[in-house]
Amino acid sequence: MARVYNFSAGPSILPEVVLKQAAEEMLDYKGSGQSVMEMSHRSKVYDDIIKEAEKDLRDLMDIPDNYKVLFLQGGASQQFAAIPMNLMKNGVADFIVTGQWAKKAWQEAQKYGKANKIASSEDKTFSYIPDCSDLPISDDADYVYICHNNTIYGTAFKELPNTKGKILVADMSSDILSQPVNVEDYGLIFFGVQKNVGPAGVVIVIVREDLIRDDLPEFVPTMLKYKTQADADSLYNTPPCYGIYICGLVFKWVKSMGGLKAMKAHNEKKAKILYDYLDQSEMFMGTVVEKDRSLMNVPFVTRNHDADLEAKFVKEATEAGFVNLKGHRSVGGMRASIYNAMPIEGVEKLVEFMKAFEEANK
Ligand SMILES: *Cc1c(COP(=O)(O)O)cnc(C)c1O
Repeated sequence: MARVYNFSAGPSILPEVVLKQAAEEMLDYKGSGQSVMEMSHRSKVYDDIIKEAEKDLRDLMDIPDNYKVLFLQGGASQQFAAIPMNLMKNGVADFIVTGQWAKKAWQEAQKYGKANKIASSEDKTFSYIPDCSDLPISDDADYVYICHNNTIYGTAFKELPNTKGKILVADMSSDILSQPVNVEDYGLIFFGVQKNVGPAGVVIVIVREDLIRDDLPEFVPTMLKYKTQADADSLYNTPPCYGIYICGLVFKWVKSMGGLKAMKAHNEKKAKILYDYLDQSEMFMGTVVEKDRSLMNVPFVTRNHDADLEAKFVKEATEAGFVNLKGHRSVGGMRASIYNAMPIEGVEKLVEFMKAFEEANK
């Protein structure tokens, strides 16, 4: 059974070596006689797995000691609620709305306090990142919120917003570990792992210790308090054990690839192959302002917005082994997600296929 080139936006491609290792360890993890799926989360063998995963993530991202790393459940979307519940002290936060995920986070936060939309790119279907150098940041804002890479629209922040001294919170679900990050620029970074790191079911929160509070409103669920999770080292209840194990294997793989600087170089090279082709193609074009282009998600359409031709392209691409290229329903067209685990040959072969399709359908 041949593996396909999987361009899914999420859950998405994982490194083949990681899948093979997981397969090898499936029945007997390191002589324990058990699968990681079967072992107690309180056992020594599992404790080593979660501790090592945390250590490897800390090494990769150079996470300072005054930040906690929490392995949680509920996906990125649950953090849309957990963040305001934990971080709103004044009950105010400012949101930069650059796509549907940021919009959902903004809407969810309105349940818990005053959530201000201080910038948006919705006027042009989120195809650009607004100028964030001098925004009307609220004096009493507890934090400023961004979605660092917009999975659906294919835009990314290349420069962080000027928060005028306020804490920055970022959703990095779709670009975590794709490039170096200066963790100290943020009060909190979170990511659902199913885009660039592991199987769905794990969300990781990296939060500065002084933002973890004990004086939250009564209504905040015990499970959603960062304090609960931090005090218990993410083992307050049963964590998503197997998913965390796979994340740990992926962290080791990223290390073996040379870490985040090397990952960035690799991703830039890969994305350039696709963007360069799109820029000169007479049939296809990217949908995003050039300076804001994501390295991870590349939406594109036919130049004359020919829905039939796009459907034909997606169908033939699928048959040729390039799968999950259909664009998000809000943008239409196509989207190639080229996360860390997508090999360079995957993009080279996709571009070859696109060239041949273009030639055959002139
Ligand atoms: C996929 C995605 C989400 C939603 O993740 P869930 O784990 O399904 O809740 C949120 N933000 C971004 C940027 C995403 O790409």
